[in-house]
Amino acid sequence: MLFPAILAGTAAMAAPAADTGFSIIPAPLHIQSGKGSFMLTPQTRILTESGNAALQQVAKELAAGIRRQSGLSLTVGALGKMAPANAIVLRLQADTLGNEGYRLSVKPGLVTATASQPAGVFYAAQTILQLLPTGVAKTPALPAAEIADKPRFGWRGLMLDVGRYYFPVDYLKKYIDYMALHKLNTFHWHLTEDHGWRIEIKKYPRLTTVGAWRNGTQFTNNRVNNHPHGGYYTQEEIKEVVAYAQSKFITVVPEIEMPGHSLAALAAYPELSCSGGPFKMPVNWGIQKDVYCAGNDKTFTFLEDVLTEVAALFPGEIIHIGGDECPKDRWKACPKCQQRIKANNLKDEHELQSYFITRIEKFLQTKGKRIIGWDEILEGGLAPNAAVMSWRGTEGGIQAARLLHPVVMTPNQFMYFDYYQGETYLEPYCIGGFLPLRKVYEYEPVPAELTAAEAKYIVGVQGNVWGEYIHSPEKSDYMTFPRAAAMAETGWSSAGNKNWDDFARRMESQYRRYEKAGIGYAASAYNVMFKVQADSARNKAVVTLTTDSYRPVIRYTTNSSEPTAASPRYQQPIEVTMPVNIKAAVFEGNRVRGKTVSAAAPFQIRCAHRIATIGHARAARGLRIGRSAQNLSPLSGRGSPRSPAPATAACAARGLAITAGLRTRRAAAPAPAIKRCRGASGPHLPPVRRDDGALPAAAPPASSAPVFPASAAECHRVPGRLPGRSGSGCCPRWGRIPPHAALPRTIVPALNASVAFGAHDEIMGVELKTVLHRGIVYFGAQLAAAHEVIAVEPGGVRNPDQLRRGFL
Ligand SMILES: [Zn+2]
Repeated sequence: MLFPAILAGTAAMAAPAADTGFSIIPAPLHIQSGKGSFMLTPQTRILTESGNAALQQVAKELAAGIRRQSGLSLTVGALGKMAPANAIVLRLQADTLGNEGYRLSVKPGLVTATASQPAGVFYAAQTILQLLPTGVAKTPALPAAEIADKPRFGWRGLMLDVGRYYFPVDYLKKYIDYMALHKLNTFHWHLTEDHGWRIEIKKYPRLTTVGAWRNGTQFTNNRVNNHPHGGYYTQEEIKEVVAYAQSKFITVVPEIEMPGHSLAALAAYPELSCSGGPFKMPVNWGIQKDVYCAGNDKTFTFLEDVLTEVAALFPGEIIHIGGDECPKDRWKACPKCQQRIKANNLKDEHELQSYFITRIEKFLQTKGKRIIGWDEILEGGLAPNAAVMSWRGTEGGIQAARLLHPVVMTPNQFMYFDYYQGETYLEPYCIGGFLPLRKVYEYEPVPAELTAAEAKYIVGVQGNVWGEYIHSPEKSDYMTFPRAAAMAETGWSSAGNKNWDDFARRMESQYRRYEKAGIGYAASAYNVMFKVQADSARNKAVVTLTTDSYRPVIRYTTNSSEPTAASPRYQQPIEVTMPVNIKAAVFEGNRVRGKTVSAAAPFQIRCAHRIATIGHARAARGLRIGRSAQNLSPLSGRGSPRSPAPATAACAARGLAITAGLRTRRAAAPAPAIKRCRGASGPHLPPVRRDDGALPAAAPPASSAPVFPASAAECHRVPGRLPGRSGSGCCPRWGRIPPHAALPRTIVPALNASVAFGAHDEIMGVELKTVLHRGIVYFGAQLAAAHEVIAVEPGGVRNPDQLRRGFL
């Protein structure tokens, strides 16, 4: 049984290790540096107990890793009776460090790795590889050390969505390699979607002859190409991937989505729907209303047949049954579904979904499997033995843990790696959100609300790589790394061993490892973030430059020229006279790491009277106005991004309005992108402040704040997976959004308490994106700085479209 084993593995361990200057990611539990080092030579051997196939496999992997990193080819052999010397010894030995823990001793003449299970030895081997120098060394050496290590959580996962875009098997194997490098142990393979069914099912061939292919794809927010796309994995390929993962001690959890996200299956077999179809394979992203008919026994026969084949292909105990984002429209109108509700004394369609999932759970029990589902499976009652993946924030996880069900924490605002990891105009096109490296790192998976007994049900963490805008292996690498490293440390390292500065230091080595391994990671952590404190009365501003990288050498200019290795080095906050255009980049010698970032920003905004005011208000309340990760939570105080502080509500309610002109920016006339910009006004708004940083006397009374919808029905439905959105289309803290059609010529109001300046998109829908990524308003936890607004000024205009097209 996986879960009890997981629970046993989370028992607390003793004191944290000190920072010893090693660069192991994730940080080990205990590490003590020793004297000298173990020199690797061509004569060094890797020795294991004879007759243990698993250990021999680990030894071969280790030899291959050492060869890749140092060029040395070491012989793998069997331990004899003689005491070994000049060897790396791998062996099993009973231990208290659990199924994945290990001990590693590196001494000048000998390296010994022991664990109670082969998985532990495998992780020891990963650590050995990370002790090797990342640069070129004439004689590679492992620094002497004593390490005792074990993971904090038993589930350390990555989910890759191959439903939206098909990825070849070769890439999946690489992905699994990358996971192993981070001591991750669960590959959640999202195999079915509305837009593609990717797993061969022998009994239902149309699933892959029809359901695996589509005629086009929405490739940005509002554009659809007509390139056919598709692909699927044969059962032989599935077995190949599963076996490959097993060799790296990674369990594959297949996801077969139900009852929603099933349009590909319905396109193949329309009789499984409520309406009977026919259906076309969708080319636009977003939640589809057509789902499996819960009143039709054929649906269950079909799913049981499918799951029978799936269960036979995947040796792991867990099968993910989806359960998310299932609109109930069709069930409400379907006589069969309504009959099922009546016959089973169900209260409503939510209980019908619970009936659906519970019935599938019971079936899978007969195959020796347990289910996990997205947190919507809590609605209408949780199936008796189900585990829950908490994605809509942490509430679902808290609720499930209190019901004593295992929980994997994967809250969208910290663990959705399809979100932007830097300023939108510097990043390839993404679905939305803002999730820089540091924010991933700072996530603590055990909610403070839980008792110690309940907390034991938090069995792990997982990063999710949703694929709507991830069409290639290159982009998948880019979106996954380095954020997966931050997640891996959260999953493996004890909470007391986590330290951002030290992690950032170790990431410098990790980036080198990525480069050696050919991982196309994002260097966004090197992009400079600006914190600006403007004093418009004096026409001055103090600018602070930061990054999510370790002790960066930041060089900058204030005359619009590109910074070079000869430009002044940033040492401390700089005072500038406005207007000014600051450009800054991180340098490593002559080389720019990341991208050069420009902040002509707040200083040139002539119409931004209130922007500055809001900025000041936030600063004055201890809320930073930069672009760093810290900017994300201050709206609500760190750790509770879903409960906006009244101060910010006040800021937001004051509003920022943008009128026509944005859509016509490409026209010949050199009209400013923002023709008019004014503070929103109305009976509910506090008085407009002077541009002197003064604060409103008080937040507007809650009753007068118009920005929260009274019900979900009032909310604009937002396509895609977005922060804080519930299955019904929005969450209560989302503001009311005008319909798409109205946006280009309408004021974009400040929408809710989390509204801030920045460049964000998608969240507000198709048309609004056009406005937004030119840098106007935003939303949710996405904070950026007022200076982003400058992006729409004549002369200072960037063209995010152009940048993004480069990636598509
Ligand atoms: Zn139905």
